Amino acid sequence: MGRKHNFYAGPSTLPVPVLERIREEIVDTGGQGLSMIETSHRGGMYEDVHNRAITLLRGLLGVPESHRILLLAGGATLQFAMVPLNFLGRNGTCDFVLSGSWAKKALGDAKRLGAVRLAFDGSAGGFTDLPEPADVHVPADSAYLHLTSNETIGGVQWKQFPDPSPVPLIADMSSDILSRGIPVERFGLIYAGAQKNLGPAGLTVVIVADDLLERCPEELPSYLSYRTHAKDNSLYNTPPVFAVWAVGMVLEWVQEQGGLAAIQKRNSEKAEAVYGAVDASGGFYRCPVAPAVRSTMNPVFRLPSEELEKRFVEEAAKAGMIGLKGHRSVGGCRASLYNAMPLEGARALASFMNEFAARHG
Ligand code: PMP
Repeated sequence: MGRKHNFYAGPSTLPVPVLERIREEIVDTGGQGLSMIETSHRGGMYEDVHNRAITLLRGLLGVPESHRILLLAGGATLQFAMVPLNFLGRNGTCDFVLSGSWAKKALGDAKRLGAVRLAFDGSAGGFTDLPEPADVHVPADSAYLHLTSNETIGGVQWKQFPDPSPVPLIADMSSDILSRGIPVERFGLIYAGAQKNLGPAGLTVVIVADDLLERCPEELPSYLSYRTHAKDNSLYNTPPVFAVWAVGMVLEWVQEQGGLAAIQKRNSEKAEAVYGAVDASGGFYRCPVAPAVRSTMNPVFRLPSEELEKRFVEEAAKAGMIGLKGHRSVGGCRASLYNAMPLEGARALASFMNEFAARHG
């Protein structure tokens, strides 16, 4: 078929059966004589897809009845602003775990709207480690604690989460949602852009506790209030219908794979293949991240020189493995291993890494 092993960080690889199903159904969906993306978002045809995506997400992630699932637009970036707009309150203070580039961006927007304290600051260590969950202390007057469950650029990932209760825990899970089981009931709010593990770009999933919705200020413009979307089942305005449709197909695919337990196991095997190649290279490859918090989704690694990194990326691309260049802000290499990356893809990369190191080490 000529498809490449795609290691891009997002938008990123999607399950081939989902792409084939889209191709099959895009012109005439379900024999209805029109495409899913040509129909009213208030018609039965789309609403079924919308509600099914929410039901599938609830089932796969184990979202309790105490939490609502919202399907929004605007990317995870809009959530950097919506979270403080809704929950920081006038003259409020929130707490942040500063774990890397994405936490920094979320923090930047919160700072425009209120005061931010740091529960942890990883900047001195170059964002290569995270605190022990038990060492994260949050004052009781805090509006919420925000963390980034997986730093897509730095490659650090929380394995267990801190418990700031009664202060709500809010997490940006853009790059590891649906990659493993998580205790959703412990979070006040979770948000994630779709374009890594969930489907195409354009949709942002928000999971929010009902009791937090009571805090959304009345004076917010409608779209910016979580309460608006909760009240209208995310149909207050036109939702990103193509993305919701495709995400529904990805969720069905995840279910067919055996659900989150099976996906989590495969993700660990993929990460072990790549980190295994790093650790067995005698120092040719170096992962800057502390072993206990290495990301299963976005392993990052350096080679002995930038020149070799460039060659590595180029030669890998010639061998059919693309998207291995690290983020421009940090350099190095990064292999994103989202759910749709098959184990063979990670193994092919590990073999290439061994062979490249043998040639250049
Ligand atoms: N948070 C994280 C952890 C991300 O990886 C990204 C995108 N790569 C974002 C937020 C921003 O997402 P979006 O582009 O959907 O606004």
